[in-house]
Amino acid sequence: MIKQQIGLLIREDLCVGCLACSRICPEAAIVVTDRADRREVRFQRGCRGRDCDRCVAVCPEKALALGTAEGPELEPPLIMEFELNRCRSCTRPVTTKKIVARLLERTPPQFDLGMPARDWLGLCPACRRRQESRALVQGARRDLFLPQRTAQGHGDKS
Ligand code: SF4
Ligand code: SF4
Repeated sequence: MIKQQIGLLIREDLCVGCLACSRICPEAAIVVTDRADRREVRFQRGCRGRDCDRCVAVCPEKALALGTAEGPELEPPLIMEFELNRCRSCTRPVTTKKIVARLLERTPPQFDLGMPARDWLGLCPACRRRQESRALVQGARRDLFLPQRTAQGHGDKS
């Protein structure tokens, strides 16, 4: 559904609650707050209107547009809520469930992440790095010890 607010047309169905518009807005007209397991994206007063389209340009989901639609403009603020996704390893809230679902839809099945895409996307950046370095160390250990065992194996046979 398209909602008209502070001079913007907002597609609630497309928005994933990613922070990008809020970070780029020079007027702090879009405010994002995380509380417990929920993220709130709040479109409030202060938009420059036609002098600026930064949030429209940066939105990765094309959820925003400048302009007017038929019907009355809603009274600010427009508030959208998103359920937060917790890291499956350290349980820290890292992103929204809607972002994870959208990324999963777009991840090609052949994309090699070293683990199932759902598991990889369920980790926070710090836990991903930990998993990757653990995998690298395990790989290096295998590379170090496997040739020796193979060499011993050959030695036994001869
Ligand atoms: S159009 Fe510009 S001022 Fe208005 S909400 Fe977007 S980034 Fe902020
Ligand atoms: S940049 Fe787009 S998808 Fe991200 S929170 Fe803003 S409107 Fe939603």
